[in-house]
Amino acid sequence: MVGSVWELARILRTRRLASEELERIRNDRLRSVVRNAFDHVPYYRSLFLSAGLGPDDIRTVEDLPKLPITTKRDLRAAGLNNITARWADLGSCVTITGNGTTGEPFATYRTRSEQRTYFMLFMASLLSIGFRPTDRLCILGPVWPMPRRIHHRLGLFRRTVIPFSLSLEDQVRRLKEFQPTILWFYPSVLRAVMHYLKKPLREIIRPRILIGTAEVLDDVLRDRLNDELDADCFDLYGSSEFGPLAWECHAHEGLHLCADHFVFECLDSSSGSEAEPDAHAVVTSLYGYAMPFLRYRLEDLCDFDLRRCSCGSAFPLIGPVKGRENDLIKLPSGRCMSPLALQTALKRLPMVDQWRVVQESTGDLIVELAVNTPPVGQSFLDETEQEIRSLLGEPVNVEIRLVDFARDGKLKFKTFVSKIELPDSEARAVERSQDRWE
Ligand SMILES: [Zn+2]
Repeated sequence: MVGSVWELARILRTRRLASEELERIRNDRLRSVVRNAFDHVPYYRSLFLSAGLGPDDIRTVEDLPKLPITTKRDLRAAGLNNITARWADLGSCVTITGNGTTGEPFATYRTRSEQRTYFMLFMASLLSIGFRPTDRLCILGPVWPMPRRIHHRLGLFRRTVIPFSLSLEDQVRRLKEFQPTILWFYPSVLRAVMHYLKKPLREIIRPRILIGTAEVLDDVLRDRLNDELDADCFDLYGSSEFGPLAWECHAHEGLHLCADHFVFECLDSSSGSEAEPDAHAVVTSLYGYAMPFLRYRLEDLCDFDLRRCSCGSAFPLIGPVKGRENDLIKLPSGRCMSPLALQTALKRLPMVDQWRVVQESTGDLIVELAVNTPPVGQSFLDETEQEIRSLLGEPVNVEIRLVDFARDGKLKFKTFVSKIELPDSEARAVERSQDRWE
């Protein structure tokens, strides 16, 4: 407990630092994780040597690009013993497994001390957006155990988890009973609840802060929450490997990277091809020693926002994360586009609760919509189809289907599914789940 408070104070203190001091801390931490990885982790030692590098070649963040990028596939192939530090007692480590739909979950190992940092990074982000000791925090979505601590018994920082695996009826009942002042949610799970409710959320809960996480928090849901609740809505971006990578501040001008604990790179596609219009996220953990991550490629699309946030923080901004690299609509010309672009069309449709885009082939797209005010007329379907066609800008068959996601048992689902054969086994090995934190 004392260690956690100290760790939290340390993180909060760092968040007030000026850029120069922040940079010094980053470089100190980088040298330390690099030295550990080279000395104690066979995979990284080989990687350094194969690139003709030693640990002293990576002295600052600017030196990092000398090191080749590592993918999840590389780490899986190397095997657990080669990607964890020789000194680490894996039996006493905390294991976090990211769920994948390929049947190849990927586990991250952390020492107890690293796990404390992981949680305190969440806590620091919560405090920065106004979390108070008297708040009631409800986490809607994950299946997490929630141990009771002394402060919970004292009525401080009360929290509960409502897993997506419960029936919608039970989720709604528990939301009503708990009356959260802060609602932390997986977007697809909250959408399913809203679809089930058939009335504005404000009729059952009145949180003052909303935090979307684990999946893309799109503008359609944000706008709807704005209409239904008098609450401030924030995006929190993270992954099971790293914890919280970036948080949105009160200025709502982007997400601040946790630059004191990670080096984040948004890399342009090396091909420069129009088929890959977005940059992808490459992350180096500055606090991971038991299982280091140096220049690890997340399959997320991102963009740096070079503006300085009006809140005054020296922590750099990224724009909202757009989804995973391989979650792109592929068009007949070879061009790709993010399915989130279809929001432009869906945004104008207040009756749409949930949607899913299924790409059957490069020429065929099915857009599944769950509406809250059935029945809808043929003209609605025709106009939506036309709008999506014009957004795609290429000859693609678009079929609109009305569905009821809330009743099909898949309460937590991907909003984009591609059935296009991926080009090679490497692509198939990539985890396609948007869920990264369970
Ligand atoms: Zn800010």
